[in-house]
Amino acid sequence: MADRNYPIEPYRIKVVEPIQRTTKAERERVLKEAGYNVFNIAAEKVFIDLLTDSGTSAMSDRQWAGIMRGDESYAGARSFFHFEQAVKGIFGYKHILPTHQGRAAERILFETVLREGDKIPNNIHFDTTRANIEYRGGEAVNLVNDGAYDPEAPGDFKGDMDVEKLRRFIEVNGRERIPLVMLTVTNNSGGGQPVSMANIKAVGRICREAGLPFFFDACRFAENAYFIKTREKGYAERSIRSIAQEMFAEADGATMSSKKDALVNIGGFLALNDEVLAEKLKNLLIITEGFPTYGGLAGRDLEALAIGIEEVLDESYLEYRIGQVRCLGELLDEAGIPIYMPVGGHAVYLLADRFLPHIPRNQYPGWALTVALYREAGIRTVEIGSVMFARRNEETGEEEFPELELVRLAVPRRVYSMSHIRYVADALIDLYQERERIRGLKIIKQAKHLRHFTVRLEPL
Ligand SMILES: *Cc1c(COP(=O)(O)O)cnc(C)c1O
Repeated sequence: MADRNYPIEPYRIKVVEPIQRTTKAERERVLKEAGYNVFNIAAEKVFIDLLTDSGTSAMSDRQWAGIMRGDESYAGARSFFHFEQAVKGIFGYKHILPTHQGRAAERILFETVLREGDKIPNNIHFDTTRANIEYRGGEAVNLVNDGAYDPEAPGDFKGDMDVEKLRRFIEVNGRERIPLVMLTVTNNSGGGQPVSMANIKAVGRICREAGLPFFFDACRFAENAYFIKTREKGYAERSIRSIAQEMFAEADGATMSSKKDALVNIGGFLALNDEVLAEKLKNLLIITEGFPTYGGLAGRDLEALAIGIEEVLDESYLEYRIGQVRCLGELLDEAGIPIYMPVGGHAVYLLADRFLPHIPRNQYPGWALTVALYREAGIRTVEIGSVMFARRNEETGEEEFPELELVRLAVPRRVYSMSHIRYVADALIDLYQERERIRGLKIIKQAKHLRHFTVRLEPL
């Protein structure tokens, strides 16, 4: 017997997709051509792709069967009613509007409820949520608890909103300037940390008292529910479905990217109770996404989504899913590799500035780590640090760096086996032994906004 309880896949393989191992010399060439930016690398040249967990899930045999059974009628398709019934059964809201992905749901919502100068609080806004709010002239405000920014602070629910900050925020700004309050579960931009039921209820109570609508950014609702079940008192015997229902009952609606916890490769939706608002959203949906019974998706997409959003509630799936990510974190932590603790739901985050203390921030240690990991092992990850977030101070001309310098290892759902995960851990442990040899980089070409997608660099 192995001396570790590796999580075991609660499924067997029916279809395979070959992946390619490349040589180090080949990867060196690929990196040079890509301007040392892993976003510019063809996916075929990647052995293990941990760039994102979004839209990268493997579908089940039942979902693929659903793809064949999708009803492609323009209006009133059978697949829409399957989708609507599945979502209502979990979320409980009256109106369900399909969209082509999560950011479309956000865009339609904010275009309708937000006026210039309005403020939207959240635990931590995800990038697309922030961008959609700022694009409408609003302000996206993060009110997460202080511990969320400390990678060593213990805590079962480091995604929790600071409810005192929220109370004060509503007092100071007044409800007229706050169209709604959001809560992101799990907190993607804060280490994938969960939000407790107690916190959800506290936020719900504050919103009801203030007469403010409360919306979830629900992308990883099932992973969040699993953390509540396993960590919060009184939920151990409850089903994931009933915990999710209890979460959603506290709020008035949700935006969702189905590319996460609906186990599909594309799709999203808006769900809400307010009849008047739903009518307005529907009108905008028709103009920009499509008729309300398909909203920018094919019937087959809705069918796969309806099945996936039920499958994600399966506890043996979630136990494996969360266990696989945790196991990767434990393997690294036990080898002394600095990571954000505790491990979140969908990803492990390396603390790149501690992994590579000899590389100053202006030589981008996080970015250097993504390059080294690809060069040594063909693994693709993403920097969430200085290249992504540094801002130039207009007065001094100097770059100002974000609090954390992270590299995210996002694990796609049902895609990689435990052997793949052990390969990733071993590669990182080897790299950690040789970390002094890793060098920083300098930027040779960059765009003004979202530069990480297209930036080109050179090793120093
Ligand atoms: C992915 C994501 C979104 C946006 O969804 P897309 O489908 O990528 O448009 C919004 N919020 C969170 C928390 C996400 O993880």
